[in-house]
Amino acid sequence: MPRSEAGPLGVFGGTFDPIHLGHLRLAEEARERLDLEYVAFIPAGQPPHRDAPHSTAADRLEMVRRATASNPSFIVDDGEVFAAGKSYTVLTLERLRASIGPERPLVLILGADAFQGLPTWHRWREILQLTHLAVGNRPGHALPDGIPRGMASAELDALCNNHRDNDPTSVHQSPAGRIVPFDMTPLAISASQVRALILAGQSARYLLPEPVLQYIGQHHLYQPI
Ligand code: ATP
Repeated sequence: MPRSEAGPLGVFGGTFDPIHLGHLRLAEEARERLDLEYVAFIPAGQPPHRDAPHSTAADRLEMVRRATASNPSFIVDDGEVFAAGKSYTVLTLERLRASIGPERPLVLILGADAFQGLPTWHRWREILQLTHLAVGNRPGHALPDGIPRGMASAELDALCNNHRDNDPTSVHQSPAGRIVPFDMTPLAISASQVRALILAGQSARYLLPEPVLQYIGQHHLYQPI
């Protein structure tokens, strides 16, 4: 992990089963809008909130490596993939905070759907002490004014009201604690859709990077047995 004190470090976790262009645009647009120095992609080992992934952690990690290789601002962190136990974001953030020190801004990048699930996360109330949150408005998951839809939790609502900052570059002013919504290019791509297409023998081309598609073909991932 780069130790430079220079700029905010973006953190982007996901199952990445497989990584697709929706993920990559979310990371790239967050990097540009918030002026992040790097974005660290962190594939989950055992995601706590969902069924076991369809491909192995090693395959998902390799696909993330291939998808991000050409972008010098993107780095890959394998700390969750090989950790024992479930991939809790708060533990990863504690590890990163210990590595970069208390001053450097940390920015967790999320799609609006993932943000709405925040109150189900392990030790979720501690997350904003460790990081800022950058919430990208994913198609179908946010209102036009950027307020996430269907907030079941009054506490999440209150958190938003208290921590929201509409200036994306405000993350440079403190190490953690702000919720920054930003509009991203709507790309209604999901990993489930990609897997379903491949399983049905249909084309998933142009939904994910070509090197990832090649890897899927070479390793017979997501295909009927
Ligand atoms: P699945 O279809 O298997 O549920 P997914 O495509 O939603 O997977 P995840 O790995 O679960 O991918 O998502 C990781 C992160 O990427 C989450 O924060 C999610 O909100 C975000 N994300 C995924 N797809 C998009 C997209 N098309 N546009 C914006 N954000 C996205």
